[in-house]
Amino acid sequence: MRKFASIAAGLVALALPALAAAWPAAWTKPTEPYHVAGNIYYVGSEGLSAYLISTSSGLILIDGGMPDGGADIIEANIRRLGFKAADVKILLNTHAHIDHAGGLAKLKADTGAKLYASGGDRKALEQGRHIGDNENGEVSFPPVKVDRTVRDGDKIKLGETVLIAVLTPGHTPGCTTWTLAVNDKGRPLNAVFYGSTSVAGNALVGNKAYPRIVDDYRQSFTRLKATPADLFLPNHPEMADLAAKRGRALTPGSNPFVDPGEMSRYVARSEQEFQRELARQQGAAR
Ligand SMILES: [Zn+2]
Repeated sequence: MRKFASIAAGLVALALPALAAAWPAAWTKPTEPYHVAGNIYYVGSEGLSAYLISTSSGLILIDGGMPDGGADIIEANIRRLGFKAADVKILLNTHAHIDHAGGLAKLKADTGAKLYASGGDRKALEQGRHIGDNENGEVSFPPVKVDRTVRDGDKIKLGETVLIAVLTPGHTPGCTTWTLAVNDKGRPLNAVFYGSTSVAGNALVGNKAYPRIVDDYRQSFTRLKATPADLFLPNHPEMADLAAKRGRALTPGSNPFVDPGEMSRYVARSEQEFQRELARQQGAAR
């Protein structure tokens, strides 16, 4: 979840089908898949990213969208690109929230892929519910079993492709950013699949279920500032204005997704927002 916290806040007591009407329509609206750079493709919905990475030994998929329709949109997009959903061997997740983990259970069942996730988000994925005090309460999603736990710096290899886990907890206890070195028409580039660093209703003061949350956010901002990014690929496409870049990509020329300063600008803004929200919550607690 990112910025629709207030919409969801009053509705958590309702069952999922009723709740679904409160989520942004773009989250479950299909959109055309497209090539980003190197072996990276966008296969998500209009409002929620999912990224496909092709290798000589099968496919890697990052994120699963919403419970209702997320997996179907992603699988249809994989087919439209000429790949087979059954070739997805590894499923990854940026964090255990309904909008990025909701479709993972269906994707795993449909493809037979293994799910790799951080230890910090394992419990949330397997119980299908966010961990930590949050003003949105407990928003649930279909639980999904984690096959392998990853730590900071772990390398995920498939074929010649190597993804590296950069743990960026705070938004959730196991929020994970994934990095990948790609070759785009002979040009070496660092791609970063960004976890989330927004506060999104999290209690930063007195969070009994997640007491180290503030330290985690701070460590994550430090880690992200040290992560080189030529391609900033977030889990909400509007964070990097992906739709506009995709339009520009239709004209031959330089790759519009390449912007080496973009992620660091985003991280700086996000850290400022975090500091403001922390000060607000500290003020309210006094
Ligand atoms: Zn989230």
